[in-house]
Amino acid sequence: DTILKTKNLCKYYGNGENEVKALQDVNIEIERGEFVAVVGKSGSGKSTLLHMLGGLDHPTDGKVYIGKKNIFSYKEDELAVFRRRKIGFIFQSFNLISSLNVWENIIFPISLDGKKIDEAFLKDIIQTLGLEKKLHNLPNTLSGGQQQRVAIARAIASKPEILLADEPTGNLDSKTSAEVMGMLKMSVEKYGQTLVMITHDEDIAQIADRILVIEDGKVAEFS
Ligand code: ADP
Ligand code: ADP
Repeated sequence: DTILKTKNLCKYYGNGENEVKALQDVNIEIERGEFVAVVGKSGSGKSTLLHMLGGLDHPTDGKVYIGKKNIFSYKEDELAVFRRRKIGFIFQSFNLISSLNVWENIIFPISLDGKKIDEAFLKDIIQTLGLEKKLHNLPNTLSGGQQQRVAIARAIASKPEILLADEPTGNLDSKTSAEVMGMLKMSVEKYGQTLVMITHDEDIAQIADRILVIEDGKVAEFS
């Protein structure tokens, strides 16, 4: 069951002499439940690819399918709704809301959507990520690893089919990175989610099911 697919995906920035071909004819297929690590040198096009997969930015050419749906055939407001329902984003910089405590941060996207809170599911996520004693804390009282675990819980809480993570361990030391990655992998397996994660850390890439190597905007290897 293919959940994510690109067809001749191209993204060019700028034009004329200043044109940068960030992605050129990228064709990939990702199965439901897979954990894919995206690796490649700085500037090779990894973030651009993740933005296209998540519908955060439009391609110059080509298509992105989530399930059977070409996501760029949606109007902008429909795409925003689709994105909120289907995709969870995790960033290097955590992006927590500093005035909200851990619990409030985790349920923030659900409450924005006016969706009902599935208490049992949330409790389970919170336990899986080891946050049960931190629910009343503000983000600035937490370590980097704890903050990223909150961001992961928030991304998972709205039950997206796909999680897209851009260097989630980029701000963490290696011991904390391994710990956070262990919990992230355990969570996506437990909840059957598909994870596409950019990393420049080779040890971390090894724990993925498959590794996608991007070179100069092209797929160099996907095994
Ligand atoms: P990576 O994530 O692998 O570091 P990026 O996808 O960020 O690579 O960038 C790929 C190429 O596209 C780089 O040459 C980068 O400078 C360029 N690029 C990325 N975003 C923009 C943008 N908004 N405007 C112009 N060029 C960009
Ligand atoms: P990182 O710290 O991993 O580089 P950033 O926080 O800089 O990630 O975000 C990367 C990109 O994603 C930016 O272009 C930003 O506009 C976009 N972005 C950040 N947060 C969100 C969000 N919650 N929803 C959608 N897009 C976001």
